[in-house]
Amino acid sequence: MIKPILLSTPHMGDRELEFVREAFETNWIAPVGPHVDTFEQEFCQAIGTNHAAAVSSGTAALHLALRLVGIEPGDEVICSTLTFIATASPITYLGAKPIFIDSDRTSWNMNPDLLRETLAKQAHQGKLPKAVVVVHLYGQSADLAPIVEVCNEYEIPLIEDAAEALGATYKGRSPGTFGRIGIFSFNGNKIITTSGGGMLVSEDADLVAKARFLATQARDPAPHYQHSEIGYNYRLSNVLAGIGRGQLHVLEDRVAARRRNFTIYQQALAKFPGIEFMPEADFGRATRWLTCLTVDAKAFGVDREQIRIALAQQQIEVRPVWKPLHLQPVFRECECVGGAIAEDLFNNGLCLPSGSNLTLEDLDRVIQAIAHLHR
Ligand SMILES: *Cc1c(COP(=O)(O)O)cnc(C)c1O
Repeated sequence: MIKPILLSTPHMGDRELEFVREAFETNWIAPVGPHVDTFEQEFCQAIGTNHAAAVSSGTAALHLALRLVGIEPGDEVICSTLTFIATASPITYLGAKPIFIDSDRTSWNMNPDLLRETLAKQAHQGKLPKAVVVVHLYGQSADLAPIVEVCNEYEIPLIEDAAEALGATYKGRSPGTFGRIGIFSFNGNKIITTSGGGMLVSEDADLVAKARFLATQARDPAPHYQHSEIGYNYRLSNVLAGIGRGQLHVLEDRVAARRRNFTIYQQALAKFPGIEFMPEADFGRATRWLTCLTVDAKAFGVDREQIRIALAQQQIEVRPVWKPLHLQPVFRECECVGGAIAEDLFNNGLCLPSGSNLTLEDLDRVIQAIAHLHR
């Protein structure tokens, strides 16, 4: 049987089990405990921020972030369209409505000019959105400076979905630390994983304290169980935080391995007519969480779907680029500003196997399979 090559699989280091064993030996098998506290501190150091709350998923972190900036039923929230649905689902959990914004060609992320135009128009109509959620896709930061600037100008809180961008930089700093709140994910397919988990970060200590409060059922400080607000059960388990601590040790290695994958793919495949790799914007380091490329079917000879199907037959898992949210049936009523670039990236974009544990032989098998399809 031929070995399957998957898109992005967990890759443990040497220390995770040691931390998990410690959790067992001390019986801290709970959504609180010393690993959770230390993981938060170590995570802050790793990305250069001061406050973090470890939670059960990236989606939970986004839900909390939107609650913390006061999103309520009927509110409007601006959101990138080219992303995974979890960037936007928490907007609807709170009864608010997303307005989507198209990408730019360089970063594949939210186009700052379109954001500015949209906010100017909305200000003119007297109905500004309550928040902006910007995603940093596939390990590349959005162009944050102009996005932060315009959000500040209109006093709209910026939430950064950096679920895919741990280890990336924007002008030397980690994305996720520029807005009012940033979130990260440790899902099984992300650059490091706790099998499932997330982190909410902010420079505002009170906000992070409130996140912890809401994530533990919003229990008032009283000896009996008393609640003045509705919360959630969103804290990260101490066992999983142990895995996270081990994974943080190897974060830089994981980024290097994923960037190496990208370079090897690019060196072998960029020479084919019609193949174009996702650019790396000049404002920072992309982690290349996933190696993405676009296929011009006329020039290459086959289209994206033909490549995907041919590789699937050879047990190689490749995926189309995210389907833009404004094209999702569940969001068909929602407004989108622009959209043609995200649609084009979706129609022609392909994500290659990108795990940090791929071997050179694996990469070569993917390369040969694609090269072979060129007509
Ligand atoms: C994975 C992901 C999330 C959600 O994170 P989970 O930990 O899986 O809940 C949110 N946004 C983006 C862009 C993601 O890739």
